[in-house]
Amino acid sequence: MKIREDYARDCGESPSYLDPRDSAFPFRSPPPFRKTGGWQSFGCEGYSEGVRWLWVLVASVGWGQTFEATPAAVRQGETVRVRSAGQATAARMMGRTVPLYPQTEGGRLGLMPVAAGTQPGSYPLEFLAEGGTVLRASTITVRDARFRTQNVVLEKAILDLQPAPGEMETVAAFQKAVSETRRWVEPLARPVPGCMVSPYGVRRLHNGKPTGEYHRGIDQRAAAGQPVRAVAAGEVKIVRKFNLHGGTVAIDHGQGLESIYLHLSRFATTEGALVKKGDVIGYAGSTGRSTAPHLHWSLYVHGVPVNPVQWVPLKPCVQAKRPASLVP
Ligand SMILES: [Zn+2]
Repeated sequence: MKIREDYARDCGESPSYLDPRDSAFPFRSPPPFRKTGGWQSFGCEGYSEGVRWLWVLVASVGWGQTFEATPAAVRQGETVRVRSAGQATAARMMGRTVPLYPQTEGGRLGLMPVAAGTQPGSYPLEFLAEGGTVLRASTITVRDARFRTQNVVLEKAILDLQPAPGEMETVAAFQKAVSETRRWVEPLARPVPGCMVSPYGVRRLHNGKPTGEYHRGIDQRAAAGQPVRAVAAGEVKIVRKFNLHGGTVAIDHGQGLESIYLHLSRFATTEGALVKKGDVIGYAGSTGRSTAPHLHWSLYVHGVPVNPVQWVPLKPCVQAKRPASLVP
């Protein structure tokens, strides 16, 4: 009981907030939403109004340690935030290990991606000390996201497009690179205001033939020439005209979070530039493998494409009868 009271006091919470029926702390009820900023203030008072985050908290306290993984239940393609107050410097789940980076407000934070193709089920998430000792384990439940199938009708000329020399390698290298300086804060910005034409995760068919691919980001409605804005601060890593991706800008936001914007008609930034959240980085278009002007953008967490809608609220376009786009 002492631990519970200490936790409540340290975190400025009413002890009644914790379920007194629990004899061992580690779990507590989802807190009410508070308008106190974003995930960056994750500590004691850091519960945000996060739109679709289920604030089911897996937390355990003991001997000066705190371990948190939120949300404890995710859908395929979502991201788990892993926080440690103390000795844990990495987290491991499904064979993937991600660093927990020291945060300016204290403690450590890491992002654990759950790939779109993950089998639904329960998975252990382990908190690791320097050297790999397992300090604690939680369970993360991965639910079926029920991704739909989408057929995209493509003209032969677009279907036959081949990547430019080095195109796929450049994008793959960007996905792999992880910089340690965190430049992103919550909430992320929408790159364009338009509704969502095509969601993340849909299984793609080309002219009725399965491609084995899924949509690795989202498509938002955008007119040709409409400004496209950085979802968060970061360092611009790619500003290139590619064959398949079209006009491409890619930004490293640090500590495992990256974004990429495709089919742009023009650029408004350069490789190596440091941009702020909301800066115009280019203009929407229909370059590359695209059938109409729109914005495709993706978020990567440690190289894994994750569902941006978990990070940025976006409404689907009503009665979008036909997909306006396609990207690799
Ligand atoms: Zn797309």
